[in-house]
Amino acid sequence: MTALASIRSLTVTYRRDGAEVAALKNVSLDIPAGERFAIIGESGSGKSTLALAIAGLLPATAKIEGRIDWLLRPPPMFGAKAPAGLRDHAPIGGRDMGFIFQDPSASLDPVMPIGKQIAEVAYTHLGLSWRDAYAKAKTLLERVRLPDPDAALRAFPHQLSGGQKQRVAIAAAIAAGPKLLIADEATSALDTIVQAEIVGLIRRLVAEDGMTLLFISHDIALAAELAERIAVFRHGELLELDSTAQIVNAPRHAYTRVLLDAHLGLDAEPLLRRT
Ligand code: ADP
Ligand code: MG
Repeated sequence: MTALASIRSLTVTYRRDGAEVAALKNVSLDIPAGERFAIIGESGSGKSTLALAIAGLLPATAKIEGRIDWLLRPPPMFGAKAPAGLRDHAPIGGRDMGFIFQDPSASLDPVMPIGKQIAEVAYTHLGLSWRDAYAKAKTLLERVRLPDPDAALRAFPHQLSGGQKQRVAIAAAIAAGPKLLIADEATSALDTIVQAEIVGLIRRLVAEDGMTLLFISHDIALAAELAERIAVFRHGELLELDSTAQIVNAPRHAYTRVLLDAHLGLDAEPLLRRT
């Protein structure tokens, strides 16, 4: 199977207040084309660092050792040099990779109608006329099931709910037809019901467009609902990488069991049903 991104002995170190923080330690993994792949781990385990490394978006201050071989190019709007603040670059969508972040407000421009924001991705990356790009924006708003797409085209982000904003950010992320969709804690700011809706939306869009998915979450149950394989991270180390069934039914690492137990106490049903 072809790997969209092949990571070998990747170590990423940030420098902060004179000290070095190893955010990733000697990580090797492949993300095969067409797979739904999840990365899980608690806050600070290096998940976002890995996502940014794969997307070619690590800040220039990060020291990178090891290698990543891409079958894809990182989103072209970022060029070779990482941006000072991702917040300044919206929306995040490219032909090869689309990126969905935790906070849609950070990736959407508050003073631009959302139709324009989505159309701009299609206009920039697909070379469509503005009229066609705008028509595509409407189709995308329909695909992410935003109510009243015509009105939504002209709406501003603050007029939408959190879940609707995330739907718009997803529409922008897939507007240029990326091969790889990276969702970094894309549902973590949403309440449980909306979270389930967004997971369902991501699953449907990934299937419809044949995208490869990199789903990043601190929540093992959500990851198990979406992913075929799960990588468990802690303190920048890859502890365990296996099929979802193996991770959920017979985890090899004690820490994975802790993550599972935390969930089974709450709600075993979703995990048990799918295995
Ligand atoms: P996660 O996404 O799993 O919460 P991160 O990849 O964001 O983890 O962070 C891993 C570690 O790297 C943490 O200790 C975090 O504080 C540190 N870190 C992340 N980004 C930066 C940065 N830009 N500068 C300095 N340290 C960082
Ligand atoms: Mg993170």
